[in-house]
Amino acid sequence: MRAQPKASHFIDGEYVEDAAGSVIESIYPATGEVIARLHAATPAIVEKAIAAAKRAQPEWAAMSPTARGRILKRAAEIMRERNRELSELETLDTGKPIQETIVADPTSGADSFEFFGGVAAAALNGDYIPLGGDFAYTKRVPLGVCVGIGAWNYPQQIACWKGAPALAAGNAMVFKPSENTPLGALKIAEILVEAGLPKGLYNVIQGDRSTGPLLVNHPDVAKVSLTGSVPTGRKVYEAAAAGLRHVTMELGGKSPLIVFDDADLESAIGGAMLGNFYSTGQVCSNGTRVFVQRKVKDAFLARLKERTEAIVIGDPMEEATQLGPMVSKAQRDKVFSYIEKGKAEGARLVTGGGIPNAVNTEGTYIQPTVFADVTDEMTIAREEIFGPVMCVLDFDDEAEVVARANATEFGLSAGVFTADITRAHRVVDQLEAGTLWINTYNLCPVEIPFGGSKQSGFGRENSVAALNHYTELKTVYVGMGKVEAPY
Ligand code: NAD
Repeated sequence: MRAQPKASHFIDGEYVEDAAGSVIESIYPATGEVIARLHAATPAIVEKAIAAAKRAQPEWAAMSPTARGRILKRAAEIMRERNRELSELETLDTGKPIQETIVADPTSGADSFEFFGGVAAAALNGDYIPLGGDFAYTKRVPLGVCVGIGAWNYPQQIACWKGAPALAAGNAMVFKPSENTPLGALKIAEILVEAGLPKGLYNVIQGDRSTGPLLVNHPDVAKVSLTGSVPTGRKVYEAAAAGLRHVTMELGGKSPLIVFDDADLESAIGGAMLGNFYSTGQVCSNGTRVFVQRKVKDAFLARLKERTEAIVIGDPMEEATQLGPMVSKAQRDKVFSYIEKGKAEGARLVTGGGIPNAVNTEGTYIQPTVFADVTDEMTIAREEIFGPVMCVLDFDDEAEVVARANATEFGLSAGVFTADITRAHRVVDQLEAGTLWINTYNLCPVEIPFGGSKQSGFGRENSVAALNHYTELKTVYVGMGKVEAPY
């Protein structure tokens, strides 16, 4: 098996196995080949990981932020040196083309360690509050043991986006990757130790939806950060609430992308394609409801069809491949069922909808698909598909499109393409979403906060804002005079 790790879990600085855990097969989605066989964490493994984190955390928290940051920045350097190897592993884990993973996965994880390693020394300061004579000050203190639970679309990035701010702030982490993509996070753990991270601070355990609750319900866990679907978010939030644990919820979306008739059409089409087909459409912030103003609809669709049909689909390890398979057969079946619903409910299939020619038939490939004449009530316009399916909806005026764009339970992201600068800002001001783009789409550099509103979650990843979600304030009031008691 070509991607078999040394063992299933990484705890207290080393690989650990417990064959009593149920078997997790890691399947390369491009061929259906089993590339690794791992075991889900048993309760004993969960205990071991949390105990290691709990033991290691106080000493780490007592180090200066500069010293912690130095280790994280070294991890970033190692990730960059090993970008090719890590990207190939990410491609095997997910099926995403190497053309993408080489620029978007380990590199964005490395950015995260570099950024949080750098800001740790400057961004964890408190305030001095003068009270006339007396004064107070605040300290930003780590939470303790944090749990990260990941989705399968960006396994290495998610492992770093949660790990970097948690560690920078002085916490320890136990991370559980998705059962579909168990491999990448183990390498991140290994690299952190190689960079000098003391053992026990970043642990990885495998498991599925039955393992997650063992972590979320554990009394020694102070915080849970989940990246996953809305239904999972509800369950994890509820379980965390029982122990009054801190939570960050990075959940699903059905984001609007609005194209006004004065937009640069080639850019708008490029943005819509990136926001629907990148990572084979498996991106939470995708702009899957593309509202196009009626005057440019025909031109938009004609050019979109042409560009979509030119997408190179194939072996993800080939540098030229632009679109790989879906992560799993189950996910592809789900996407196909939405395509069937789209057709049955009267949407017009512009292109795609089937299995592409000339691909490995054991792979979970699907054509990039565009539906036009989609209406707000259709299932494909309301539910998150999480595959390469773009829905194009028509609109006439600004007020109408803003109201329709907001008529969803989700609120992760939104985008606007227009040449009118005042309209651009007016519209984003009214859109209900956590992360918005003007004249571009889906760019998430580590410097900017990322996260959702409404049912898409809360808390923010990336940027200095993320540190607030991995720390809490301690306030100290200092009395400078004598205590005057009335009794
Ligand atoms: P999922 O909700 O099925 O699983 C996510 C993770 O939660 C997995 O590791 C899973 O094992 C675990 N899990 C499931 N049930 C659990 C429970 N009861 N307690 C604890 N853990 C549990 O999601 P997925 O299919 O892996 O990923 C796709 C979803 O993730 C989509 O909805 C997508 O929009 C969302 N997503 C969101 C973001 C974001 O940043 N907002 C990023 C990527 C993906």
